[in-house]
Amino acid sequence: MATATAVCSLENYLLLPDSTMDERIAAARGALGRECVVLGHHYQRDEVIRFADYRGDSYKLAQQAARAGGKYIVFCGVHFMAESADVLSRPGQVTVLPDLNAGCSMADMAEITQVENCWEHLVAAGLTDDSGAGVTPITYMNSTAAIKAFCGERGGVVCTSSNADGAFQWGFAKTPKLLFLPDQHLGRNTGYNLGIPLNEMVVWDPYMLNGGLTPDRLRQAKVILWKGHCSVHQRFLPEHVDNVRAKYPGIRVIVHPECRWEVCQKADGIGSTEGLLKIIREAPSHTMFAVGTEIHLVNRMGKEFADEGKKVITLDDSGCLCTTMFRISPQHLCWALENLAEGNIVNQIKVKDDVKHWAKVALDRMLEIQ
Ligand code: SF4
Repeated sequence: MATATAVCSLENYLLLPDSTMDERIAAARGALGRECVVLGHHYQRDEVIRFADYRGDSYKLAQQAARAGGKYIVFCGVHFMAESADVLSRPGQVTVLPDLNAGCSMADMAEITQVENCWEHLVAAGLTDDSGAGVTPITYMNSTAAIKAFCGERGGVVCTSSNADGAFQWGFAKTPKLLFLPDQHLGRNTGYNLGIPLNEMVVWDPYMLNGGLTPDRLRQAKVILWKGHCSVHQRFLPEHVDNVRAKYPGIRVIVHPECRWEVCQKADGIGSTEGLLKIIREAPSHTMFAVGTEIHLVNRMGKEFADEGKKVITLDDSGCLCTTMFRISPQHLCWALENLAEGNIVNQIKVKDDVKHWAKVALDRMLEIQ
């Protein structure tokens, strides 16, 4: 490994054309060799994900982060994913997020102080004690490390859209009630799928007094959902399903569980990004799909399955792009890798040790749930 030289300035990279990036990224990857693993989320653009050693949804990438060899984990995804990679990494490993502005609007919808406030309310209402004896807190992967730690410390767990069913069943085996955050849609779809009626799931609004809920509503509820959502998946509407079915009779509509309940009810299938890929992979050739998820993945599915005569289109023509995932450009990736090859660590994501401990407890529990 080279001795550290002056950090190359990001601004200079952002002026470079995409066409010059491939060769430089490949050269920096070559120089770093086995010291570096690049992880890429399915929603990354083609010019970035082609350099990923592993691509997947947040569950699969968390598994890869926990197994990664080498010194550097370069995470082409968003901030909460890189935080989880840091929590799951081995001592001495360094996690890098090529653009620190790659966040997630859903994760921003739950702040730790708001979650603590909600929990205090549940304790005061006599629904649980502070250790989680009456309510199991479950947080979606799309949340800060502080919230993951909060759940881990109170007997709770992290889940992804791949294993939310399992996490709910795990929680209900311990307590009669769950607090699920921050995505109300994933929580509602998962609860409903497990047979919980809609009127037994309530929504806690962190911006309203007492979450906007009466003590009676809280007592009756089996699942307390957090008022958060994904700005990409919430854009899909029931009429998009009607329109696409009218235009392409026989088309199969498959959607991500971050979509609204009304959309999921109209769909032929629901799945995490890995789950959606599996549905298409296992379908007979010449099947046509309309997919309700991020546009880069949908376009890639279209190309990937074209050889099998399968056609894949987006459920909504206006194109649902995750703008924060899009922030990781080839220029950012090149800048991060070339700096690492020069011995300079840039954009390191480092979770504080006290948070790390309980976040790891919650993430380890998640990795045990299928
Ligand atoms: S697709 Fe939605 S949940 Fe996923 S990173 Fe983007 S904003 Fe967050």
